[in-house]
Amino acid sequence: IDPSVKYKRIVLKLSGEVLRSGKTGDPFDRAILDKVCEQVKEIYDLGVQICLVIGGGNIFRGLQGEKRGVDRTTGDYMGMLATVINSLALMDSLEKAGVNTRVQSAIPMDQIAEPFIMRRAIRHLEKGRVVIFAAGTGNPYFSTDTTAALRASEMHADIIMKATKVDGIYDKDPKKYPDAVKYEELSYIDALKQRLNVMDSTAFSLCLDNNVPILVFDLKAEHAILRAVRGEKVGTLVHG
Ligand code: UDP
Repeated sequence: IDPSVKYKRIVLKLSGEVLRSGKTGDPFDRAILDKVCEQVKEIYDLGVQICLVIGGGNIFRGLQGEKRGVDRTTGDYMGMLATVINSLALMDSLEKAGVNTRVQSAIPMDQIAEPFIMRRAIRHLEKGRVVIFAAGTGNPYFSTDTTAALRASEMHADIIMKATKVDGIYDKDPKKYPDAVKYEELSYIDALKQRLNVMDSTAFSLCLDNNVPILVFDLKAEHAILRAVRGEKVGTLVHG
């Protein structure tokens, strides 16, 4: 592994919305997808062990379904399937960029993905394969943020990197308040006290209990992921 790397095993969480085209509103934008994968390739080439968790928000969310009369549990399964679609899209683009991948699904679907087996996932990492965790936790009422927190704990990852559209955590909404101040670092307790929405509360408490740091950063910044794994000052780091 390259000596410039600070975080050797990471869980990178991407929201499904990342893949949506800004121009057409299409749920998939191949150019965006390939750009994200280029960034992943940069750290892959350094020898970083990478787990990926992608959401399904560009396709379906259980809560949205509920508003349209779909039962919450059914909607959540639809959302989990959406994450499988996104995971396959990631796999396709990564493999074309020369990155070896394996998709592991929390819900068995043999023809499409391996089942999630923790020890096997670790073996994949050791062999230089990126592991993409699909179908969330496999349970309704959870999120892919919680999936990232759970898998990071199971895989003993050094950090969760949560890629978003904002460049970190602010004391108030930077879109509404021009005087909003960005935090460079933050403790879990302060994040809780100030009710800062780093992740949903289930995901956040898992990170807190298992001492997994979370880096919130802007995926669109130049070489954002590369700089993040080197421990450079990007985004906001939430830690114990
Ligand atoms: N989901 C679920 N259990 C999980 C993970 C996801 O039920 O363990 C469902 C849930 O309906 C969620 C949807 O899948 O809304 C898509 O995931 P998420 O909202 O986290 O995607 P993102 O916002 O990151 O794109």
